[in-house]
Amino acid sequence: AKELGKNNCQFYTREMNASIEEKLVLLEGLRSALDDGQFRLVYQPKVDLHTGRVFGVEALVRWDHPEHGVIGPDRFIPLAEESGMIVALGDWVLRSACAQNRAWQDAGIAPLRISVNVSPRQFEDPQLVQRVQRALDDSGLAPEWLELEVTEGVIMRDLQQAVAKMAEVRAMGVSLSIDDFGTGYSSLSALKSFPISTLKIDKSFVRDLGRSSGDEAIASSIIGLAHRLKLRVIAEGVETEQQRSFLRENGCDEMQGYLFSRPLPPQQLAALLTTGSAP
Ligand code: C2E
Ligand code: CA
Ligand code: CA
Ligand code: CA
Repeated sequence: AKELGKNNCQFYTREMNASIEEKLVLLEGLRSALDDGQFRLVYQPKVDLHTGRVFGVEALVRWDHPEHGVIGPDRFIPLAEESGMIVALGDWVLRSACAQNRAWQDAGIAPLRISVNVSPRQFEDPQLVQRVQRALDDSGLAPEWLELEVTEGVIMRDLQQAVAKMAEVRAMGVSLSIDDFGTGYSSLSALKSFPISTLKIDKSFVRDLGRSSGDEAIASSIIGLAHRLKLRVIAEGVETEQQRSFLRENGCDEMQGYLFSRPLPPQQLAALLTTGSAP
């Protein structure tokens, strides 16, 4: 609705109202959706850029709304974050992802690392560490097969506290990565004190690789920075062969994107891994 204001004020107002109304409807629905089992996870493969091997998956939440159909997380995660619902929803995501990963291992699929998104409010929850431990204990998943993706927003709120909590998570044997790297405002000097293993290049810098020398400079700088800090680097939103070649030639380690696969329901992901293609 942002672009609409310029020449049609009437329409702009109507859109604004609709979106506030939509927010209220979704917010109302969020409360019961968890109890009613309306959320599910899809899983997007992460691929080693040099060997082509799938080494992990990112869990992404979807809301099957009884009236509005499938709703993507960009429309409800911010609401869940504002309302505090994210703590309960995030706990469900964490537990479901760990249980699913353990189920794949039990089915004989080569072990994968599962990445779970943790938003700032969820990361601040004083019980986060216990919640992660409980998700591992209850699923029987070994900690080395779990990674938390946090954004720079987590770090911005209270640097020292964030670093201490990250260290607790690391001490459990769970990995951490910085998501959407380059879009937030985190100091580069702080980066070296984070007990993380991976930086994820945001898809906004990947989109124009091969077309924009500015984005190419940013992407290759992030790769260089990560490697100098002894971190791995993954690019998200890889859609074209051209983007993949650029990343590979510039030393990026891993990729994720529609070029290899969209996020998939669990059975389709298992099929992709066992037969090499999704049914
Ligand atoms: P994100 O963590 O940066 O996830 C990447 C998003 O890019 C996902 O959107 C994914 O489906 C999409 N994507 C993957 N490959 C491509 C590609 O090649 N091209 C393009 N254009 N997009 C691609 P999705 O699933 O809609 O999730 C959006 C955001 O919602 C995520 O961004 C994340 O911030 C948040 N989110 C999703 N699931 C969860 C969750 O369980 N918990 C929390 N706290 N946040 C979540
Ligand atoms: Ca992510
Ligand atoms: Ca991103
Ligand atoms: Ca994001």
